[in-house]
Amino acid sequence: MDTIVVAGASAAGLSAARQLRKSGFAGSIQLVDEEPHGPYRRPEVSKGLLNGQVDTNSIAVRWPDELGLEQVFGTRLTALDLQSRELHITSDSGAAVLGFDGLVIATGARARQTPFDTELRGVYTLRTLSDAMAMREDLDHAASVAIVGGGFIGLEVAAVARAMGKSVTVLETSDRPLGRVLGPVFADHIAGIHRERGVELLCEVAVTGLLAGPGNAVAGVALTDGTAVEADVVLVAVGSAPAVDWLASSGLDLTDGVLCDATLAVEGAQDVVAAGDIASWWNPLYGRRMRVEHWTNATEQGAYAARRLLGLHDMNGFVSAPYFWSDQHGMRLQSIGTTIGHDRADIVECAGERLVVAYSREGRLTCVAGINSGTAVQSYRKMVLEGETRDAMRNISDATADIAR
Ligand SMILES: Cc1cc2nc3c(=O)[nH]c(=O)nc-3n(C[C@H](O)[C@H](O)[C@H](O)COP(=O)(O)OP(=O)(O)OC[C@H]3O[C@@H](n4cnc5c(N)ncnc54)[C@H](O)[C@@H]3O)c2cc1C
Repeated sequence: MDTIVVAGASAAGLSAARQLRKSGFAGSIQLVDEEPHGPYRRPEVSKGLLNGQVDTNSIAVRWPDELGLEQVFGTRLTALDLQSRELHITSDSGAAVLGFDGLVIATGARARQTPFDTELRGVYTLRTLSDAMAMREDLDHAASVAIVGGGFIGLEVAAVARAMGKSVTVLETSDRPLGRVLGPVFADHIAGIHRERGVELLCEVAVTGLLAGPGNAVAGVALTDGTAVEADVVLVAVGSAPAVDWLASSGLDLTDGVLCDATLAVEGAQDVVAAGDIASWWNPLYGRRMRVEHWTNATEQGAYAARRLLGLHDMNGFVSAPYFWSDQHGMRLQSIGTTIGHDRADIVECAGERLVVAYSREGRLTCVAGINSGTAVQSYRKMVLEGETRDAMRNISDATADIAR
């Protein structure tokens, strides 16, 4: 291979590019991204960037010049032709074609767009640095904020806005925020932390539309029960979808992101790998297909995918107990593994706002999640990776703390 194109220059793409060099690839590496600036720590978009605790400079992800990466930024990928090994791109300079010998697909995901009237000022979705900078300006002057969707991003923004002294309402369609992901015990614990700090959580409510105020600015959200929540700023945080639009004519399976095998090789293509939020791969650890939207997973997959492209990968596949964190009200929530399909959740530790919960399926540990308990969560990593029995976990826990049965 002489030329490798990395499509998407964020966590997964940059990690792949670095690994290509580390593994000895001396050819051309072209990093293509539609955002005009270089990579940045995307998780700050719903955290420090909103209240000015971090600035754009401090969240930039840098790399040494010696890596010799060709930056093709401000350039949108529009199509992939697998037969001719060409990518179609467009930028301010017009349309062009990029040839490649190897390709890393790492275009991540996009925020699901608001189903409401987007003409109103003060209505946001959050995915990029420019989304955050635009929202921050409005947030500074706002008295009240409504957040549609009680997922991680919605709750992180609720915490930031509350700390800025705003009146904050989170609107969630299910019976509790994060209940589907973390189960009722953990979810209720988090809901309690938010309510304690003055966030209004309205559950089992549906938004029918947005209310317009003077000057085409948003004034609030209307609910199905006929009531309304006033707001100067509305965040629509209703999830994300893989950024596969540019692959529509490629012939690849895009049912849920880009379909890969256990080694992140894209099904139906030669010398093409995928990594990060866009990759749906067979995780040998859980014996199931997964697509994970976490920062650490993206960087780890990027490195593995690069080795795969060069034929230097671990033949067992990308075996992973995915890790993520979320910062809310100055506390850190962390999780290792997957809660998907768990049939049991045990409280391992609970003291004040600190909590550790173990999730298992058919008696095997699949995940440990905690809040304000990073060291404890990390200490179970090996057991989650090895799919230890729940009983083994209980023995350890009995030595140190109570376990709820
Ligand atoms: C607001 C927010 C907060 C988050 N907080 C956390 C957190 O606290 N902890 C955690 O573990 N994870 C968090 N995440 C998730 C984490 O940021 C992602 O998992 C990670 O960024 C995925 O990296 P990626 O490289 O796969 O994709 P992305 O970061 O989405 O990058 C994809 C890149 O591809 C580019 N691209 C897409 N389509 C095209 C195209 N057609 N042409 C050219 N370029 C294109 C995009 O511009 C983008 O730069 C958060 C995500 C968001 C949005």
